[in-house]
Amino acid sequence: MRLRYGAGEEAFRSELVSWLESNAPSPEQLRMPKASSADLQPWARDWQRRLFDAGWLVPGWPPELGGRDASPVEQMIYFEEMSRREIPRSLNPQGLGIIAPSIRDYGTDAQQQQFLLPTLRAEISWCLGMSEPTAGSDLASLRTRAVRDGDEFVVNGQKVWTSGAHQADWCLCFVRTNTEVPKHKGITALIVDMTTPGVEARPFPELTEPDFMDFNEVFFTDARVPMANLLGEVDHGWPITQGSLAHERAMLWIDYAYNVERSLRGLVALGAEPRAGGGRIGDDAVYRDEVASVAIDAQALLCMGFRGFSKFMAGKSAPEHSLLKLFGSESVQRSLAIGTSAIGAAGLDRNRLGPRLWRDGAWLTQWMRSFGGTIPGGTSEIQRNIIAERVLGLPRA
Ligand SMILES: Cc1cc2nc3c(=O)[nH]c(=O)nc-3n(C[C@H](O)[C@H](O)[C@H](O)COP(=O)(O)OP(=O)(O)OC[C@H]3O[C@@H](n4cnc5c(N)ncnc54)[C@H](O)[C@@H]3O)c2cc1C
Repeated sequence: MRLRYGAGEEAFRSELVSWLESNAPSPEQLRMPKASSADLQPWARDWQRRLFDAGWLVPGWPPELGGRDASPVEQMIYFEEMSRREIPRSLNPQGLGIIAPSIRDYGTDAQQQQFLLPTLRAEISWCLGMSEPTAGSDLASLRTRAVRDGDEFVVNGQKVWTSGAHQADWCLCFVRTNTEVPKHKGITALIVDMTTPGVEARPFPELTEPDFMDFNEVFFTDARVPMANLLGEVDHGWPITQGSLAHERAMLWIDYAYNVERSLRGLVALGAEPRAGGGRIGDDAVYRDEVASVAIDAQALLCMGFRGFSKFMAGKSAPEHSLLKLFGSESVQRSLAIGTSAIGAAGLDRNRLGPRLWRDGAWLTQWMRSFGGTIPGGTSEIQRNIIAERVLGLPRA
């Protein structure tokens, strides 16, 4: 489905498309293996810098911050075109998508100078230190402790699942500074230099791809962080955990929608392949039925996304965010499960590629990766709780 917008907005699209035609990274660059989500390879630094200089990095922001003051509809067009072409804005998505907006919203002038522009221009990379062994969905239970000592904090504790920590220059780390108040109220955000003595990142491999070492445990042992690296106010870090890129959040569903469409195209192509015992995979009526349901899911996702977006534009609250996260991530997963099951044992062959979603991979690998999409940013169960309580008005669990 491709909607047409007003003449000014279509002119915005044409300008973007023609810029991408002469500037986008090559398919070979986009397919280069990366070691983690903080692995800013030279071509990726160069690409992000070019986006910044041309005002295409964060289009909704002003030109001095890599944007062009684009309207929300123009920003949606931007994300549509980037998703359709599978072009990432940054190879350090947590730095650009979560940490840069937090520094913009909460950072001092000195922090904006030291961190915001270098992050936007891909000169430094980041990891996000939120989850702990006993604090994931219930993030407010985090225990990593920071105690004030003169003009420094002394940090002790452990984070886990910290994507890219072993390759990141900096960490936006959430710590407990007060145990005497309700748990949401004693949390503070600190900017931690990953080379600080007492900070140790230990990467561990993923089940799906042993070569892609993104996850880390990060240990803090008497690590000293200067007061100058406090983001926001002491004990008031909770609003920062909630993220601050509301405009772009309202458009994250576009990635899910394009991934379901890519998966759908893969399923249609798979239907033409021979099946064990003769004929083609697509001769199977159950398979055709399942593929049709993926096609319906893809359209439903787009319709729900546009509906949420128009509510957001009208300034209304949109419960679609939880619905889209849940339905989007699970639709991707469902579609990949259909391909994996249809291809059978042949799907174990890593050289036989399925549809390219996040990166290349066999159907089985893509399906296993898709579980990751249902966890961060609130697991599927948490989204169901939110929908039950805030959308359907059911009693709290
Ligand atoms: C790909 C990926 C990248 C990540 N990157 C980062 C990162 O860079 N930095 C970072 O800090 N973290 C990161 N995480 C961690 C992520 O934020 C957590 O995994 C997530 O918050 C869930 O926490 P948990 O793993 O501790 O699971 P838990 O919260 O322990 O949940 C375990 C199970 O219980 C269910 N559950 C929990 N509470 C409830 C409830 N109230 N009602 C019903 N069911 C419930 C959950 O849905 C889940 O199935 C990443 C995770 C993934 C998958």
